[in-house]
Amino acid sequence: MRLSNFPLATTKETPADAEIISHQLMLRAGLIRKLASGLYTWMPLGLRVLRKVEAIVREEMNRSGAVEVLMPAVQPAELWEESGRWQQFGPELLRLKDRHERDFCVGPTHEEVITDLARRELRSYKQLPVNYYQIQTKFRDEVRPRFGVMRAREFIMKDAYSFHLDDASLRDTYQAMYDAYTRIFTRTGLHFRAVLADSGSIGGHTSHEFHVLAESGEDAIAFSDDSDFAANVELAEAVATADAAPPAGEQLRLEETPGVRTIDDLVRKHGVPIERTIKTLIARHSDGGLIALIVRGDHTLNPLKAVKHPAVADPLTLADEADIRAAVGAGPGSLGPVNLPIPCIVDRSVAVIADFSAGANVDDKHYMGINWGRDVALPEIADLRNVVAGDQSPDGNGRLSIARGIEVGHVFQLGRKYSEAMGATVLDENGKTVAMTMGCYGVGVSRVVAAAIEQNHDEAGIAWPAPIAPFEVALVSINLQKSEAVRRASETLYETLQAAGIDVCWDDRDARPGVKFADMELVGIPHRIAIGERGLENGVVEYRARRGDETRELPIEPIEGVVAW
Ligand code: ATP
Ligand code: MG
Ligand code: MG
Ligand code: MG
Repeated sequence: MRLSNFPLATTKETPADAEIISHQLMLRAGLIRKLASGLYTWMPLGLRVLRKVEAIVREEMNRSGAVEVLMPAVQPAELWEESGRWQQFGPELLRLKDRHERDFCVGPTHEEVITDLARRELRSYKQLPVNYYQIQTKFRDEVRPRFGVMRAREFIMKDAYSFHLDDASLRDTYQAMYDAYTRIFTRTGLHFRAVLADSGSIGGHTSHEFHVLAESGEDAIAFSDDSDFAANVELAEAVATADAAPPAGEQLRLEETPGVRTIDDLVRKHGVPIERTIKTLIARHSDGGLIALIVRGDHTLNPLKAVKHPAVADPLTLADEADIRAAVGAGPGSLGPVNLPIPCIVDRSVAVIADFSAGANVDDKHYMGINWGRDVALPEIADLRNVVAGDQSPDGNGRLSIARGIEVGHVFQLGRKYSEAMGATVLDENGKTVAMTMGCYGVGVSRVVAAAIEQNHDEAGIAWPAPIAPFEVALVSINLQKSEAVRRASETLYETLQAAGIDVCWDDRDARPGVKFADMELVGIPHRIAIGERGLENGVVEYRARRGDETRELPIEPIEGVVAW
């Protein structure tokens, strides 16, 4: 690419509303431009980076055996009604109507659409397993869009959804995705960690997040260098305190709901079965992520019934009886009165607690209360440091450290939530109709670009890891417009590098060398070759690595000497 032909959009000013370095540098280097809150245009240079990340993701997904599809961004409400999420999803879901007044949304994710596809296309166990993926634009009306493309409203995600006859097959694909993600983030040249994600605190570790380590990260993760343990702090906190006795009622603030004394009262008050009430609670707080529904006490209402009810049979809550037992620590047999490690139920934004004690009547001195989704704030990172940093790792190997992370990927064993709700079934070996079990796997492709800058920058600007740099080599011609020798040598070298398959940009602009060098440093090209008249007289060009601090002379002949820096 000749820069005389490729508009760089670098600026000197640091934009006032850009809080973190990647956002500032993406604007200054001319990678993105803001259209409106959380909406960005990818400029030519930025798009090259985005496409390189995409290419790595696509290659590794293909290598894992996943197959690419492309689904519509706009989705009909009917599908979301089938899954129950039309009601459950909060204001993050952008809803709209077409000219016929039919409801649609702009997809924040594609479980419904893919499950609809699967129920039409997949008939027999012989077609399984299958893993569909796409690289596509998502829209989430984030409550606080910020940090540029890091937390945008419109962003590019690679999302994959796998379908299986049984859990063993799901686990195989989950592992394959975990491995693919490890290759993806290794290839992009990022320092990252795979951590247990919050669903892990309840029944089986069926979810992992991939975090790029950076101080600006919105998540806190706990890990020990001496063990394989690493977890999102929400989970780490739960693990670290799992043995502690439930804290006093004060912390829980289980409140009496006025006018409600029995479960029947509760049902009457809301006019719907308890399961529906719980579903409503989940709906109100769905933007906060995980909601753990814990039923405690010597129940008159069978908690399993509530939890297993399709309305709440969400793998994000308690998937099945074994999971509940694992969560509450009860042995096999009757669940009995349960003693909960309370932190396990503390979610990022909400804890839903129902106590269905025997009699469930306050006058009986039996407690019956429900906390209507009181917001539970995550303690500040500093507090968490006090809580878990230095604590022993749950596996006993080493001590925990806390680091901040940017979530760039998430793998999840979904189970049968969507397939059961939407009737996505196949015939098994015995000709029996069974709901498929599912996994889902996301990579924040556009977020990766910003995360890479958080890890790779200095005072002069961005210092891209070579695999995702917009160009690998910058060929900077000095006084090209004045020197025919420089023009000819530059042109030859440019063509030679291109022929060698190197992604080179030739700075053939009519600008001062200082301006060119500063631009190439700001936009972060890993290798720079400068060609000037004086060097040419001695048969040399100047080479400098973006991350290095010395400039070396390289013989221009033979050219291969330059290519093999
Ligand atoms: P977060 O916790 O950051 O809000 P999430 O858990 O809601 O992310 P997922 O539903 O797991 O996101 O989506 C898969 C991936 O999409 C995330 O791991 C993240 O990399 C990316 N992503 C999610 N929301 C955004 C956003 N608003 N802007 C850019 N990327 C995003
Ligand atoms: Mg989110
Ligand atoms: Mg998250
Ligand atoms: Mg996530």
